[in-house]
Amino acid sequence: MPSRSRHNHQKCIRDAVSAAERICVGRGVRLTPLRRQVLELVWSSHAPIGAYEVLELMAGDGARPAPPTVYRALDFLKTEGLVHRIETLNAFVGCAHPEAPHDAQYLICEACGNAVELEIDGLSRQIQKAAAREGFSVGGQTVEVKGKCGDCLGSRVS
Ligand SMILES: [Zn+2]
Ligand SMILES: [Zn+2]
Ligand SMILES: [Zn+2]
Repeated sequence: MPSRSRHNHQKCIRDAVSAAERICVGRGVRLTPLRRQVLELVWSSHAPIGAYEVLELMAGDGARPAPPTVYRALDFLKTEGLVHRIETLNAFVGCAHPEAPHDAQYLICEACGNAVELEIDGLSRQIQKAAAREGFSVGGQTVEVKGKCGDCLGSRVS
């Protein structure tokens, strides 16, 4: 996991966009210019971004798109697993490993707002199992852990 403050974020964006292009071609779905632009805006940082903020950024670029167009683009990106929705923040964040569909687990820093996605082996399966024991059918799950990130704590842990 690269340090959040000191890394080449342009590379994060480039990697995310090229992964998205690959995935969409593979699945036979279209990454339209608008969807691509929305993806880049979600990736403008590692902090979750709300749909309204995406709209504002696009308006700053010139023509303001109709809100439903942007909501639909976000919905597409979420369905394809290219972004995750952080429910408690009502915001979106780019997925750094979108090749295989997965449930997301996030560490959310309350100081800088950055979200770090975790890959905890088997956690979502365990939640599924525990839910099934309750006779509960899981429709979706996002684990959101709040606290302070290493950069904000000033630690050297990478
Ligand atoms: Zn980055
Ligand atoms: Zn993910
Ligand atoms: Zn932080």
